[in-house]
Amino acid sequence: MLQIDQLSYWERDTYFNNNDVIIIGAGIVGLSAAIFIAERFPNRRILIVEQGYLPSGASTKNAGFACFGSPSELEDDLKTISESAVWETFQLRYEGLKALLQLIDRTAIDYNPCGSWDLIQHDAEKMDDGFIDYLNQKAQEITGEKSIYAEDKKIANKFNFNGFSTSYYNRLEGSLNTGKLNNELYRLAVKKNIKVLFGVRCESFFENNYNIELHLNIGTVTTDQLIICTNGFAKELVNEDVIPARGQVLITKEIPNLKINGTFHFDKGYYYFRNVGNRILLGGGRNLNYTKETSKKLETNDSIQSALKTILSSQILIDTPHEIDMSWAGIMGVGKSKEPIIKRYSNRIAIGVRMGGMGVAIGALVGKKLSNLID
Ligand SMILES: Cc1cc2nc3c(=O)[nH]c(=O)nc-3n(C[C@H](O)[C@H](O)[C@H](O)COP(=O)(O)OP(=O)(O)OC[C@H]3O[C@@H](n4cnc5c(N)ncnc54)[C@H](O)[C@@H]3O)c2cc1C
Repeated sequence: MLQIDQLSYWERDTYFNNNDVIIIGAGIVGLSAAIFIAERFPNRRILIVEQGYLPSGASTKNAGFACFGSPSELEDDLKTISESAVWETFQLRYEGLKALLQLIDRTAIDYNPCGSWDLIQHDAEKMDDGFIDYLNQKAQEITGEKSIYAEDKKIANKFNFNGFSTSYYNRLEGSLNTGKLNNELYRLAVKKNIKVLFGVRCESFFENNYNIELHLNIGTVTTDQLIICTNGFAKELVNEDVIPARGQVLITKEIPNLKINGTFHFDKGYYYFRNVGNRILLGGGRNLNYTKETSKKLETNDSIQSALKTILSSQILIDTPHEIDMSWAGIMGVGKSKEPIIKRYSNRIAIGVRMGGMGVAIGALVGKKLSNLID
């Protein structure tokens, strides 16, 4: 690859000289952070470096659920995480989606406010009415919106799903087009004169009293401030509680006259599916083999893909002929805590990582919070 010391004066001057801020990672968080920094400081020179020719973590690979909390997921979280942490994360997700939809035109990303259904499997315990009342009350305190959650006993029959006894509807969730979302963020960044270089990997960095030296695969550059938005890959650069977590999905070919319309989750959020036009996208199953799925390899795994295919044909498209078009994997960042890490790491460095399965919802707000850590 062409090294920086082989570049022309013009190239060095445009991309590498006198950068005020360098951001590592061009996912939703890195792009959003850059955009909000450019809004706060229009004259700062900002460069994003991304190791892949496309973003190579989760932002262009996810399922495109604009979601902030399903009842069975919240119930499960309340058993393992403190109540305050559960509702803080809920608030971050809710406000994050609002921040995203203020930043990006919703029609440009095919935002569909279709609501979502948390499907309850036959063998799972039905939730107490009291629990749904509690969720609605807490959610209203945070959002100002009344009765976000309600039981819907009809949806499984309506779409001919198999194996579910009831469902809980969240009227404020929706879906979007993941590819278009990232492209819109990229377009907005470029419009704000932010430079984005793909195929450039940061190997290490060194902070001194005057600046930060970044050792890239193409040579060494300096910057005044550094923001690390590398999510599941964070441990390669900083010592934080983040491990990679691979998520896998599949998508069918087009299904003529498909009636299913909306976003659906089940089994505490471990499985999720939605329609993408006339196709069904289905993902999840990481809980089938956590050890193997603690991986940074963008590869699918046969046993999880075969579990997804079984669910698709036995629970979702039972009487509907369908063919799988493609499968893929993306890498998330998770840790002992479900909350993201958004903090100043040192004098000149800030980090925004560990987005879990929530980055579509919280990514823009995390970017905004990172921009406020810059002086
Ligand atoms: C299959 C799947 C489905 C999902 N579905 C949803 C969903 O429906 N809704 C939701 O809210 N969330 C979902 N998520 C989670 C969401 O996609 C992530 O939380 C979000 O994309 C994280 O964004 P990010 O910018 O922090 O990280 P990333 O998108 O992973 O960006 C980090 C970038 O840093 C780059 N990088 C890493 N190290 C270096 C380095 N040393 N030098 C240069 N570049 C580097 C990587 O290549 C990567 O592009 C899903 C994730 C997966 C995998």
